[in-house]
Amino acid sequence: MIEYENLHNLNKPFFKEFEEAFKEVLQSGWYILGNKVAEFEEKYAAYCDSKHCVGVANGLDALTLSLKALDLPKNAEVIVPSNTYIATILSIVQNGLKPVLVEPNIQTYNIDPTKIEEAITPNTKVIMVVHLYGKVCEMDKIMSIATKHGLKVIEDCAQSHGAKFKNKLSGSFGHYAAHSFYPTKNLGALGDAGAITTSDAELMERVKVLRNYGSKVKYYNEVVGYNSRLDEVQAALLLVKLKYLDKINEHKRKLASIYTNELKSVFIKPQVAQDNFDVYHIYNIRHPKRDALKEYLLKNNIKTEIHYPVSPVKQLAMKNIIDKQVTPISEEIHNTTLSLPISFYHTEPDIKKVVEVLNKF
Ligand SMILES: *Cc1c(COP(=O)(O)O)cnc(C)c1O
Repeated sequence: MIEYENLHNLNKPFFKEFEEAFKEVLQSGWYILGNKVAEFEEKYAAYCDSKHCVGVANGLDALTLSLKALDLPKNAEVIVPSNTYIATILSIVQNGLKPVLVEPNIQTYNIDPTKIEEAITPNTKVIMVVHLYGKVCEMDKIMSIATKHGLKVIEDCAQSHGAKFKNKLSGSFGHYAAHSFYPTKNLGALGDAGAITTSDAELMERVKVLRNYGSKVKYYNEVVGYNSRLDEVQAALLLVKLKYLDKINEHKRKLASIYTNELKSVFIKPQVAQDNFDVYHIYNIRHPKRDALKEYLLKNNIKTEIHYPVSPVKQLAMKNIIDKQVTPISEEIHNTTLSLPISFYHTEPDIKKVVEVLNKF
């Protein structure tokens, strides 16, 4: 059986270092906001080419606190891609703001910059971009639209750790970048974890206060805050994994190149521009008979996933929240996409086997 993902196998190469890192935190007797969190924040900011990093509890919180810190008026609208993972939209809704969906480009699966301006109204305050599947959005175009209209930009980097666009790192374009270290992400912890990066010292300060009860000095609360802290154990584990992030990304890129070079063209493969350094959090193909294809692969002992089976507009939770918008491009992607195995632990022969089976479909 070739599994889609196996977290034990994925993390096995790091077990020894994880054990040492855990022992260090255990012995330190300091478990919340200590040296490991500070060290991870410093190293991850440097990795992302950002001035500051604030560790938080998870990726959704990273998005939610970034929006919260912008202190937007109640009727503010936030532009977001119509095919994103629900978390991006939830962060907008949780802040009492209005998500305005913009369709993706059918080739990149990222928000279509040519469709952003028509969605801007006097209430629009933020563009939330999502670097989906590990590929950075066309940030040059998006940043110039944002500048022209005086909008803030938040990047959802949950799937794009280490990805680059025109040699610039994902997370280094917008005002805030939200990162998730959910165990399956390219940089994954052994539990929930997240971070916000920014190069603006004042914006950094605001989220730092928000994550810790709205408090700078213990027991003195300046704003209505949250408890959303990255804990010492996860920070210590992430420090181990961060050293190998480039290696993990390189491995996934190598596996992706096998799919791209060897899969027959009946499968629609991801289109990656020359100047886009894709880290392939997900390698998806599209096929009109997606469900039959998934079934066929399973019969041949290959497990796959669908990211995502239901579009945000069709989610029950969004029934009274998102205006009855028609998002045909997003629907097309949700109906035809299939994610193939591409974990750090998969070998080249594993991927060649998947290709061999697929090409016989
Ligand atoms: C995983 C993910 C999130 C949420 O991260 P959590 O750490 O699970 O809260 C947000 N956005 C995208 C695009 C994701 O893939």
